[in-house]
Amino acid sequence: MKTRAAVLWGTNQQWQVEEIDIDPPRVGEVLVEWKVAGLCHSDEHMVTGDMVPAPEMLAMMGIDSIFPLIGGHEGAGVVLEVGAGVTSLAAGDHVSASFVPACGRCRYCCSGRQNLCDATAGTLGGGMITDGTHRHFVRGEPVGLMAKIGTFSNHACVSENSLIKVDDDLPLDCVALVSCGVATGWGSATNRAAVAVGDTVVVVGIGGIGINAVQGAKMAGAKHVIAIDPIEFKREKAMEFGATHTFASMEDAIFAIAGLTNGQMADKVIMTPSVLHGDLMGLALSMTGKGGTCVVTAIAPMTQSQAAVNLFELAMWNKEIKGTIFGSLNPRVDIPKLLGLYREGQLKLDELITKRYTLDQINDGYEAMRNGENIRGVIVY
Ligand SMILES: [Zn+2]
Ligand SMILES: [Zn+2]
Repeated sequence: MKTRAAVLWGTNQQWQVEEIDIDPPRVGEVLVEWKVAGLCHSDEHMVTGDMVPAPEMLAMMGIDSIFPLIGGHEGAGVVLEVGAGVTSLAAGDHVSASFVPACGRCRYCCSGRQNLCDATAGTLGGGMITDGTHRHFVRGEPVGLMAKIGTFSNHACVSENSLIKVDDDLPLDCVALVSCGVATGWGSATNRAAVAVGDTVVVVGIGGIGINAVQGAKMAGAKHVIAIDPIEFKREKAMEFGATHTFASMEDAIFAIAGLTNGQMADKVIMTPSVLHGDLMGLALSMTGKGGTCVVTAIAPMTQSQAAVNLFELAMWNKEIKGTIFGSLNPRVDIPKLLGLYREGQLKLDELITKRYTLDQINDGYEAMRNGENIRGVIVY
């Protein structure tokens, strides 16, 4: 079939909306009509090159380039057709994307760590994660899909492992938000940082992920939720989602946190800036108190291997630094769980959407994100 998709042909370029061809789904694959796609910052990391593998790494992956690439890894849609062997989905089902596949059989899936599923290794380059061949073609050549989801295409052929069935009556824009930003931010606080009742929590960077770390910390019973962002609109939003204090910079916040905590500093610090650079880690660890936890959620440039961390304090003050992908949640358990909290009025989702765009307006949406105008922009097909 033919459909329209936003394609990136290389770094530092605009998304090109053009017609693509899609082959029918094969074994274990599903043809999805995406209805909503979130404009997450991770796709922007492909544009800037932060998340584009170096030539040596591409060679190890057996490919020359990850471009051309259809973007989008946050989304929700409706199943149009299933390939042979698909058992968990049927035509007409509503689905959430899951940018980390959950095969259900690997060591990690079987031990409650679906966010680390072995199938994720295949999502960065090459063809389908099912058999490595391509189903999507642009201008006659194979085109890759971001996270093998490609929600910036109106239709996509996706592995069954990358889709989570959701209730039909849930608004699909809310489902889309939960599929990446909400789960990642909320899980960073509630799960990876394990925020406890009475904790002082700092969230650095209030975008689509950080705002949900604020929401998760509040829900987990934090006493202080301190949100840090240079943009006033985002600090105001953070207060609506449960922040108790806001600051424009880490430098401004650090003395205030000392005052609030009698010098003990934060129990949990969650790093969700737009891009993480190693020099931010020094202040992040200074804000983390004795026995405290610093969770690194944000994406850093792939080659970033230096961080300003005082190793003496790390050991002597018994601190820990933890990475996380997908908030260390399990997509098949936690996407439905978060949507259940939304249904019961306990999780804010509608309020996260700042602006809706058509696919043709995708570059406007990313420009607004770069300018700090959006908590979350979404494409509605
Ligand atoms: Zn994302
Ligand atoms: Zn797995």
